[in-house]
Amino acid sequence: MIVVGGGIGGLGAAYALTRRGLAVRVLERAAAFGEVGAGIQLAPNCTRILDDYGLLDEAKSLGVLPDAMIMRDAVDGTELTRLDLRDLERRYGFPYLVIHRSDLHAMLLRACERAGVDLRTSQQVTACANTAGGASVTLAGGRVEEARVVIAADGLHSVARKLLVDDEPVSSAYVAYRGTTPTASGRAAEVDLSEVVVYVGPRCHFVHYGLRGGELLNQVAVFESPKARAGEEDWGTPDELDAAFAGTCDFVRGGLPDMWRDRWWRMYDRDPIMTWVDGSIALLGDAAHPPLQYIAQGAIMAIEDGWVLGEQVARHLGDGGWPAVLAAYQAVRPEHCRRVVTTSRAWGELWHLDGLARRQRNVLLRERDTYDYAFVDWLYGPTALDPADEPPMFTPIPLSSAKPDALTGTGG
Ligand code: FAD
Repeated sequence: MIVVGGGIGGLGAAYALTRRGLAVRVLERAAAFGEVGAGIQLAPNCTRILDDYGLLDEAKSLGVLPDAMIMRDAVDGTELTRLDLRDLERRYGFPYLVIHRSDLHAMLLRACERAGVDLRTSQQVTACANTAGGASVTLAGGRVEEARVVIAADGLHSVARKLLVDDEPVSSAYVAYRGTTPTASGRAAEVDLSEVVVYVGPRCHFVHYGLRGGELLNQVAVFESPKARAGEEDWGTPDELDAAFAGTCDFVRGGLPDMWRDRWWRMYDRDPIMTWVDGSIALLGDAAHPPLQYIAQGAIMAIEDGWVLGEQVARHLGDGGWPAVLAAYQAVRPEHCRRVVTTSRAWGELWHLDGLARRQRNVLLRERDTYDYAFVDWLYGPTALDPADEPPMFTPIPLSSAKPDALTGTGG
């Protein structure tokens, strides 16, 4: 099997398939495996899978297990709503973890190495095609490699996606600045690392949480670029950053000097597509469903895709062969990811409201019961393997949670 792309999605899939006894080759275009960026949030629907892979303890040792996720208003700094992450862990059985993306990526790489994945760098794939015996990839330079199945985990600008749909990334006109700061001294030393906090404001938001056992403070500043709205090519530049947050509270503005100003991430997604499989070629991760990051599920969906593929191999490869495996993958994943991509867009609109709409939002969020999980049950529960197991959206499902006072002695 060939996996195109050695990001979090490609490595996760390679590991999931190798542990099912398959020989997997990963073709990565970069000269070395690695991840750029800073922190990443891993909700219980991902830590459940890491546990199944035997990687959860390692991930915990590399990251931070916060106690609470809090949403605040970016203008006045007041709390709007929160998730109690100790209770959340009891409800879903697995923790909410924050981790440096390079640590997550390196952990998956080590797992792939131990499992015997054939990992190759400097392999730019320029085309994928179905063949009589499976599928082939063409590399820059013209070499062709054949495999029974090709999994395309080649990200937002996927080469293989063109086989399925003639579409383009959709610009949100928002841009993300990131930064990690040592917590040994200064402002970062004052920040409570037991919390993941998002400050939501007019056309902007600001996120912070701890990394590496609390050694680092991860901060992300996201805003709508006026230059992007005006149709200018050169958008999202640092001169727009400070202006975008001028009306926010002292704490948020105090974090802006910690942002890296030599790189930024323009935020794109794509409209959902419901067919990810073309013959013996299947899309996975951002190649299939790049989201805006507002509900922090992009890398998680990629890891889920790989896990589902591995499970479908175990269930179907013996009887129905690869057509049955890919059909089972295709049957369950696109609808879940469609919901995530569209919900992420809607969530962004809610976060970035201004004026009366912002005040109405704040009233509603303040009224939310901390222990109401209706908005996350469909995300954080077990990853479905069959369409019938995909939970309804925004309807609470009966899991194990109750308020903490009813849970004396249940840990956390
Ligand atoms: P990518 O990471 O894009 O990896 C694709 C890989 O394929 C790369 O290594 C690339 O070099 C390689 N490649 C590309 N083209 C080729 C080719 N032609 N030939 C060979 N190799 C190729 N997600 C979360 O789950 N939680 C979060 O908290 C979170 N926060 C985010 C914050 C921000 C600001 C952003 C921008 C995103 C966030 N995400 C988050 C989303 C997440 O980062 C992505 O969804 C995820 O990394 C996608 O992984 P991937 O492996 O599918 O794609």
